[in-house]
Amino acid sequence: MEYPRVTPEDVEFLKQAIGPSHVSAGESNRDLHSRDESYLEPHRPDVVVWPQGTQDVVAAVKLAARKGYAVTPWCAGTSLEGNPIPVKGGICLDFTEMNRILEVREEDLQADVEPGVPYRALNERLRHHGLFFPPDPGAHACIGGMIGNNASGVRTVAYGATRDCVLALEVVMADGNVIRLGSRAIKSSSGYDLLRLMVGSEGTLGIVTRATLRLRGLPPEYLTVVASFPTARDACDAVRDTIRYGLNPAALEFMDAAVVGEINRDRKMSLDGKPMLFMEFHNVNAAALEGQVGMVEELLREHRVEKIDRGIGADERARLWEVRHGALESIKRNHPGRSVLLVDACVPVSRYSEMVDNAREAVEREGVAGFVWGHAGDGNLHLGLMYDPADASARRAVGRVNRAVVEHAIAAGGTCTGEHGIGCGKLPFVEAEHGNALEYMRRVKAALDPQGILNPGKMLPG
Ligand SMILES: Cc1cc2nc3c(=O)[nH]c(=O)nc-3n(C[C@H](O)[C@H](O)[C@H](O)COP(=O)(O)OP(=O)(O)OC[C@H]3O[C@@H](n4cnc5c(N)ncnc54)[C@H](O)[C@@H]3O)c2cc1C
Repeated sequence: MEYPRVTPEDVEFLKQAIGPSHVSAGESNRDLHSRDESYLEPHRPDVVVWPQGTQDVVAAVKLAARKGYAVTPWCAGTSLEGNPIPVKGGICLDFTEMNRILEVREEDLQADVEPGVPYRALNERLRHHGLFFPPDPGAHACIGGMIGNNASGVRTVAYGATRDCVLALEVVMADGNVIRLGSRAIKSSSGYDLLRLMVGSEGTLGIVTRATLRLRGLPPEYLTVVASFPTARDACDAVRDTIRYGLNPAALEFMDAAVVGEINRDRKMSLDGKPMLFMEFHNVNAAALEGQVGMVEELLREHRVEKIDRGIGADERARLWEVRHGALESIKRNHPGRSVLLVDACVPVSRYSEMVDNAREAVEREGVAGFVWGHAGDGNLHLGLMYDPADASARRAVGRVNRAVVEHAIAAGGTCTGEHGIGCGKLPFVEAEHGNALEYMRRVKAALDPQGILNPGKMLPG
């Protein structure tokens, strides 16, 4: 379906309605909003708008509804599946100037924020209240984009994904009406759960202008454990059993030996060049924490662990997590000129070892460069496939590996994306995963956005 270009008169209209310094149809601003962090082809919006409040979003959406323009929300643009790329041009709403933390209600463990708040800035502020917002996707993401993608991170295994940490939303719908979803209560049996539908909808059903977030208390005691294993299978089996025996990790991350090698090379570190687990445990009481970690060590030994490093100090802990969060960036820096296709499949944790083996076999079969890591405690695998974008046969080979891993994950009862979303990159797998439920998803989209103006070209194939 084709969408009209935004006319110069309508750019002027937006400037008058929202303020000339908050609207730009300039080449460089359009370029800056044409690509995310994925390998996917860029597309420029016709105009970029930086809303200052909900009414600016309403003005832009009402114009789009009147003229049939595409409207794509944008936060930090760190998505990995083309989620915020304005593939049909139109209006890009950049939320980075709606970035206020409106209220922290310490006693209720809640905060009201605008969508452009970076989650790291939020956590920096919350630290002074002894609180934190758990989902941590690693990149410099903002709350609106995390809600858009239902992002998660290294602590999701204990605290859930973004969807589990959102209590209420203010949303501008495709007709320009503003609705409020959810409440400040931490549970509710009232009405259809449009709140949870909105989270993870990638801006295709409504545009979030305000969120009430559920926070957690900072753990009084924590312990980080780094363990290396002779094989990836040993490490992944240890993950399965850590979950199965209820040892409650607050983080449980896997990296294969190749990823550890890439990190050592990029960061000038000397981690063991073996498959590794990074683990963290939280508790209110130091003795209880000791007992918990003692049991974990026993379990790791049953899985032939070769080395356990624990009791790491606060600085070293921060550095380790920074290094883990930066794994993809390290791999990219070590392979200049290469593109990366990042697989994000997720399976029940009992099938994790099998998925990692399957990914490794697919990589070897196709002879491509592939690096495996992931949020193992959630059953979430990342496979970074590096290739020369100018080499058509290399592109096809990484495409085949991607398909093989995703199809295996779906067959194993899992999903094509644990956290990065569908965007445009995962569109080919939506039908295989959802079957005839896809038709009902299309009806939801048609009911909430009958003209199809909200972030078109994403989420639903065809
Ligand atoms: C190095 C690296 C590591 C990463 N690691 C992780 C990880 O561990 N876990 C993870 O989940 N992700 C990860 N990501 C992906 C990405 O960071 C997350 O998906 C993040 O949540 C995107 O946030 P953003 O602010 O960049 O949003 P954007 O990319 O700008 O937007 C994301 C989606 O949300 C929509 N959107 C934006 N604002 C709104 C709004 N106000 N209302 C409705 N929809 C909106 C957009 O249209 C788009 O569909 C990683 C990315 C990189 C580059």
